[in-house]
Amino acid sequence: MAQPKRSQLTIRLVVVALWLALVIPGGIQLAAHRNYKETIVLGPGVTEVRKLSDWAPYIEGTTNDCNIYVLDSGVPGGTMLVIGGTHPEEPAGVLSAVTIVENVVPKVGKILVAVRANKSASTVTRPGDAYPQFYTIPTDFGDRKFRMGDRWSNPLDSWPDPEVYVHYPSGQMLAYMDVRNLNRTWPGRPDGMLTERTTRAFIDLINAENVDIFIDNHEAELEYSVISTIVAHQDAADIAAMASMMLSAMEFPMGMEYSPLLLHGLSHREVGDHTDALALEIEVPEPFLDRVRGITDEALLLEGKDEFVMRAGKAGLLYEKIDENGWHIDERVGRTNSTIKMIVEMYNEFYPDRQIQFEGLPTRDEVVAYGVGRYLLNPAQVGANRVVQD
Ligand SMILES: [Zn+2]
Repeated sequence: MAQPKRSQLTIRLVVVALWLALVIPGGIQLAAHRNYKETIVLGPGVTEVRKLSDWAPYIEGTTNDCNIYVLDSGVPGGTMLVIGGTHPEEPAGVLSAVTIVENVVPKVGKILVAVRANKSASTVTRPGDAYPQFYTIPTDFGDRKFRMGDRWSNPLDSWPDPEVYVHYPSGQMLAYMDVRNLNRTWPGRPDGMLTERTTRAFIDLINAENVDIFIDNHEAELEYSVISTIVAHQDAADIAAMASMMLSAMEFPMGMEYSPLLLHGLSHREVGDHTDALALEIEVPEPFLDRVRGITDEALLLEGKDEFVMRAGKAGLLYEKIDENGWHIDERVGRTNSTIKMIVEMYNEFYPDRQIQFEGLPTRDEVVAYGVGRYLLNPAQVGANRVVQD
């Protein structure tokens, strides 16, 4: 075999050096994001922090053995489970869950919260789509930093994907990557892929704790029709319809729609079908998710301003309004919280025997007036036993 000439060898070495110069710093950044631990401060209402594996041993030792925050009033009543982070690229759902953990004080019944329902999906973003890795929320004591994530579980935790994802138990065929989508794997199974196991673990929790209301926090692109709405299982339709009417009359427009009967894998369908809980999903607008968006950075994620999405709106291509004010994270977290509060108020009307009452949840007007940072606690001002990582 002929030896490469010295000049060819030099070119090859330069190419390898350039490749390493790109791959090593990039890899370090990806690893730092994957291993970054979020700080959560236990608010005055948190009585216990448990692990999802407490209800489902088969999830122990996996990335998705997330914290379950328990806010127990000690007064007998109903139980609510709120999950954020089904899709970690929808930060308002995550931050809404954090504001519950850090602010809410239960008065009757019990509240359970998962901030990171699909923790694995929060350890990866979409570098190919130029997603930021983190976002920071300003507060009086400095920034609180959160992991931005993806829609799907991290392939490092769940691999390989099937050619076609066959949903269990319906047999419905779905796109291959949706075997890693926490809102396509309900009700799940204990011996399935990671995301199927995760949803099964939540089903086991819901059954064991006799959860009355289950709420799944989401955000949606403005190009998608399921937006600014509550999606309800038919058993929760009365509550959702009343909440939608009251919110639209008193606070902001909020729709209501039925969970499709034959579309399987979604939380509002399967939690309602496979448990006694009333299953609801909340969707608020997030321009960051729109395909026509411009620069995909932390500013867009938090401020929700984008001239290209606005142009799409002028062309009549969107299902929600947008102007130069955009859709700020405060507006989105506030709307999510107001919707949760109204759902619970309506639930209490329908189910007076299993009341859920609480105080301290910052609603839309408060979060917009003061910023969500006002409702994040300072980890330095509480004891070390009131700070956890998630
Ligand atoms: Zn979502």
